[in-house]
This record gives sequence, structure tokens and C-alpha cells, in this order.
Amino acid sequence: MSEARRGRIGGRVQGVGFRPFVYRLAHQFALTGWVRNASGAVEIHAQGTAERLNAFGRGLLAESPAAARARLIDETPVSLEPGDEFLILGSACGGEPLATIAPDLSTCDDCLAEMRDPGARRYRYPFINCTQCGPRYTIIRRLPYDRANTTLDRFALCPACAAEYHDPRDRRFHAQPLACETCGPALYWSDRCTPTVRRAAALAAAIRALQRGFIVALRGIGGYQLLCDATNEEAVVRLRARKGRPAKPFAVMVPWAAGDGLAAARQVALLSPLDVEALCDAARPIVIVERLPSARLCAAIAPGLREIGLMLPYSPLHHVLLQDFGGALVATSGNVSGEPLLTSPDEAEQRLGHVADGFLHHDRPIARPADDPVVRRLAGVVRPIRLGRGTAPLEFPLESAVDVPTLAVGAHSKTCIALATGHRAVISPHIGDQTTPRGAATFELVVRDLESLSGVQPKRVVHDAHPLFPSSRWARETGLPTTAVSHHHAHASAVAGEYPSSSPLLCFTWDGVGLGPDNTSWGGEALVGRPGAWRRVASFRPFRLLGGDRAARDPWRSALALCWEAGIAWPEGEARGGELLRRAYDHRINTPVTTSVGRLFDAAAALVGVCLTSSYEGEGPMRLEALCESVAPAPAIVLPLARDATGIWRSDWAPLLIELRDSAQTAAYRAARFHATMAHALASQALTIRAESAVNRVGLAGGVFQNRVLTEAVSTLLGAAGFEVLIPERLPLNDAAISIGQIIEAHARHAAAR
Ligand SMILES: [Zn+2]
Ligand SMILES: [Zn+2]
Repeated sequence: MSEARRGRIGGRVQGVGFRPFVYRLAHQFALTGWVRNASGAVEIHAQGTAERLNAFGRGLLAESPAAARARLIDETPVSLEPGDEFLILGSACGGEPLATIAPDLSTCDDCLAEMRDPGARRYRYPFINCTQCGPRYTIIRRLPYDRANTTLDRFALCPACAAEYHDPRDRRFHAQPLACETCGPALYWSDRCTPTVRRAAALAAAIRALQRGFIVALRGIGGYQLLCDATNEEAVVRLRARKGRPAKPFAVMVPWAAGDGLAAARQVALLSPLDVEALCDAARPIVIVERLPSARLCAAIAPGLREIGLMLPYSPLHHVLLQDFGGALVATSGNVSGEPLLTSPDEAEQRLGHVADGFLHHDRPIARPADDPVVRRLAGVVRPIRLGRGTAPLEFPLESAVDVPTLAVGAHSKTCIALATGHRAVISPHIGDQTTPRGAATFELVVRDLESLSGVQPKRVVHDAHPLFPSSRWARETGLPTTAVSHHHAHASAVAGEYPSSSPLLCFTWDGVGLGPDNTSWGGEALVGRPGAWRRVASFRPFRLLGGDRAARDPWRSALALCWEAGIAWPEGEARGGELLRRAYDHRINTPVTTSVGRLFDAAAALVGVCLTSSYEGEGPMRLEALCESVAPAPAIVLPLARDATGIWRSDWAPLLIELRDSAQTAAYRAARFHATMAHALASQALTIRAESAVNRVGLAGGVFQNRVLTEAVSTLLGAAGFEVLIPERLPLNDAAISIGQIIEAHARHAAAR
């Protein structure tokens, strides 16, 4: 006795071979009916006996392609339709809003085996892919996800590829970026000295250049990368000089080789099981891992740090390149400092001409940039530091449905944008700052694309409370209703959004600076409450930033400010500051008040002597943290904690100054002592606040907690005191979480106002 059921499956079901999988499963159970894409979901109509339909339903979720992350949206009995086979239908138009956009997928095992098989049709083909791997987000021009709507539209399939594309039993059935040497994209090499060469000759030219110590710009998945031999000190130093990047660490890519593929990775880094899992994740992120002292990598890769950013090849092009080169390569973003990745060959040659000696291009256009994602193991869990290729657009479920489609534009730097409708939000990859024309243009492009690819038109825009941020201005210029959200409220709401609960949260938001509701620069705050209702309960003794924003680049300024505030002499700093700065300080000119913990870390790095001026954001704190790893944990100094006139608990950093400048102790010991003291200060604030407001859930937010030594000490102290500790796992701790936090915070406020 046959019956019919219709259901919808959500998750990442576009671009991962989900419909062919349904087709094969339906045939396995001898069902009739059809399957089709219905923008964002997959809709299935299946007919057969109840027993076979049940088995089919179980198989749908249990055996679905690994990349799909399928979930059942709904299922209803319907009346039987005529027909005696199971079909894959064309895409339905319309459907539910906010389609799922598949992120780019790294080369799967099947494709890797095929490209290494000399007898296979795609032997060594650098653009091999299938329904389980290949580019997605970076090639989609518009939905639905069909080949004609991708940047592959210019490549007509050859008969052999077309046969695979149309065969439901083939693993390339409807693989939209499908290609081969005959019909697909190809490499070409260009430098100043030789005529342009193509295909295998282009790859060989790039390998030769790398072997000779030259810098190669490679057109990858989400944009250009700059590559050079990671064991050639001269090459790495030259790359630093040309890129104007004196010390910021470079990522390293090692060949995938032998056995579990990690033999080369193990030669350069000490890998924990969690690191291994992270390296091999389908997104193939950059994983920050401990460098082995024996590693044959030059020191200029990460000066002053004990860790390196390591990644495995993620595209077939990277696989053949690393295999032929046979060693580790520096692989860093092909951009002009601070700007988004370059994606087009003309622009890359124009703007990276002074950096790269040669260009390994290909002719598959990149629809929009996506940086390599970055993760780091913190307190026993691998957590995102940067969202990018393979990890974004990130789906983020909302506990409470937004009343109107909402766009949030994030903060100043490390911007991601977020778009929400109903119970769902998506977060874009990292965009880069908006202060350059290219940065501003990319921001616009990503906003437009996220809207059109999701099929959602926002009716409200949320932005940072700082009125002068380019993103805040942009938001006002849309003409849509806007909501301004304070930086640290957004941080706290992002944590609350990841760990929804009816109980209040105590959230420590420690970072650089963000404008607080009292118009001072916050950065070391403890907030109690829930989205839409945060109350500041603890902070630090305020001090004044010497030279405003310049303090972020010059850690000595923060150190000198603390010394002046506490009335302590620091001749080294005073020599740098000079008379003029002292006068500005005395007359309160360009010296905004702050409670930034990020600047306290800067000050500590300067006083310990590891970083007086920084060449990249976070250099002082990163060098300070690296020092700690060579010594045993040091005892904390107990910082005074007292209530100020407004009832806010404040920790006083002053007792640290003498200790940090005590040159009788090693720099490493002083660094360890500073970390222990800050962790202890946080724990005593938490205990004090619990005593008066009974809140037991503690969240951590803000870039400062990307520091492993600090965060693990905090986590241990709070855990021992019986707190429930919440450290984001899906969202980065840094400002990449601001946009989703803005959405949650603004929605909670609007809901409360209704
Ligand atoms: Zn594949
Ligand atoms: Zn072909």
C-alpha cells in the first residue's frame, strides 16, 4: 500500500551533491517522486510503502554527504502523484528567504587520489573538483546555484565532462564547477622577463622561481597569495621589506604527504590531537601551532613568537604546487597592507608588481574575496580567530526571531557583516578595514552579495555607536531605519547569542578600545544582564591615552600614561614622549580617558622591554605571551578592587608598575607575573559580583582573550570557583563577532520597546 510524503531538508544542502544523493537513496528503496532545490532548502516528494519511506527518511539524515550538515525542516503526508520513477527536477523559484550559501570546500580524498593517478583523466589537473569539494562562495554570481550562475559559465563542458555532469550515479553529477584539462580553467605564468606560458609550463615556471628564492603571487580560491620558500631567510626578509610588513607573522603551507598527510607538518610543529583535527578540517584553516625548535624554517617568519600559523594545501592547485616544490612555503595574503585580498589578474599585477617577481594566474574568475580562515587552540578547544574561505558565510541560528530583516555592519577593523531574518543569520567572511577606497568598495560588494545570495532585503541597519566609523556613516546613508549599539554591548550579546539561556550572564569584554555609552573609551569591562539590558558592574582604574589612536601603535605611550597617572618615573618613556607630550597630558589635549585592557597589555610589553613600538596590531601582547611559555607560572599580584562613586568595581593596575620595571627579574618571569595578575584580577571581580548579584555564568569576549596564557589561567580560576565559563567556539573572540552581536542586541532592545 503506497503513500506519499513531502519534506524539506535544510542545512548546507546547496553545492554538496545533496540532490544526487537523494536520487540514489530513493532508487535504493525503489521509491517514486522527485527532488528539487527550493532556494535554501531541498524539497523531496517520495512515494512508496510506509516501511520503505521510513528507511529512506532515516538514511536521508544519517548517510547524507559529509559536507551537507543536513537537518529536517518539516515533513507532511500528501496525496499520491502519477509517475513511475524518481526524478531530479529544476530549481523552484522563490521559496523560503535566506538561502544557504555553501562555503568553499577543500579538495576531497577522491579527487586527491584521482589527480595523483597517472592513468586518470584529471591527472595533476589543478582545478579538479566534485560535488564534495571545490569552490562555492567565491564563484557564485547569483542563486540558484547552477553552473550558469557561477564564474564557470564561460567554460563549455567537453563531452566527457558533460556525461559526468548529467549522470546521476556519477560523483560529479551536477558538480557546478566541474572541469578538466580539455574544457576547464588553465594556469598561466607571467613575469617581466619571459613570454607568458600556460598550463604545465606555467606551473614549472612558478616552481623554478620559488626554488631560486623569488616571490610568487598565486591566484588561489578567494584571492591572491604571496608565496616564497619558507627556509630561505633572504627571500622571506625581501618579502617583508617589499610588503612593508616588518614583523607580523606569516603563515606557512606544507605539502600534504605520506600516510596521514601530516609528515611535513610534523617536521615543523608540535601537533596536539586537536591541532591535527583542525589542520585536517574540511575548511583547511591556518592553525596557530607551536613551532618545533628543530624546524627548518627561517626566523623571519614569526619574529619574537614561539608559534606559527600552519596550513595544509586546500585546493588542487596548492596540492600540485607544494608537491612539486617539495617543502614549506610562506603563504600570505596578496593585498596591500590592511586592504582586502586582490582577486583579478590585472589588479594584482598592478598593485603587487613591486612585491612579486612573477604571477601564477588562472582564468577562473573570483566573484568575491575570501581570506584564509585562522583558528587557535584556547582552553582545550580550537576556536576561530578569523572567518574566511571555507568557514564563512557562517550560519548562525538566533534564539529569538528578528522582527524585520536586519543588516549589521560591524565595527572599525576586522569587520564581518551579518544579515538576519527570522531565526537565522549569516556572517560574512572577514572583510578588512574600510578606510581605503578598495576597502570601502569591497565592503559594498560583500553587503550587496550577501543580500542577493541570501534573497533578503534588510529593513533595518545596525551599526557601532561611534558616529565617525565609516560603517556607521555608511549605515546612515542607506536611508533605512538605523540602530546604534555600543561596542562592548555587542561583544556581550554575541556571547549570549552563542549560549542562549534565561539566566543572566556576567560578561568580561576585554579588548582595545570601543566607545562606551558614557562616551569614554571602554576596553576592560564586566557587564551583567542579557541582550538589550546590560549593566556595567566592573572595570579598571581609568587612565588617559597619550596621542589618542596613536597609542595603539606605540605601546610606550600606554606605559608612560600609566606611569604619569600613578606618579612614577619612567625615564626611558619620558625620553620618547618629550616635553610636548607632557604638556598635552597636563592640559588634557588629545588624551581620551580609557579603561582598555588591550592598552594595559601594551604597557606591560613596553615596560618589560619586549615591544616599545609595534608594527602590527597586538604585537606587544603577542610577544609578551610568547615570553611566558618559557617559564613556570608566576604568582599573581593582588590588585586592589574597590567601588567608585558610581558603584562600579574597579581594579587598580598601579601595583603592577614597579614589578614590571624590576630588571632584577627576567623579562619572562615578569611577563608570566603580569598574566597571572590579570587573570587573578578578573577572577576576583567575578567573585565580588557573584556575591552581590548571584550570577554564575561567566562569558569572555574581546580580542584580549585570544591570549592563551591569560584565557587558560582565567578558565582554571573560574572553573575552580564553580563558575560556568563560556568562551565562544563558533564566533571569534575579536571584533569579527561584533556584527552578529549588534543584531542580537538591537533586536532585544526593539522587542523590549514594543
Ligand atoms: Zn572532490
Ligand atoms: Zn572537460
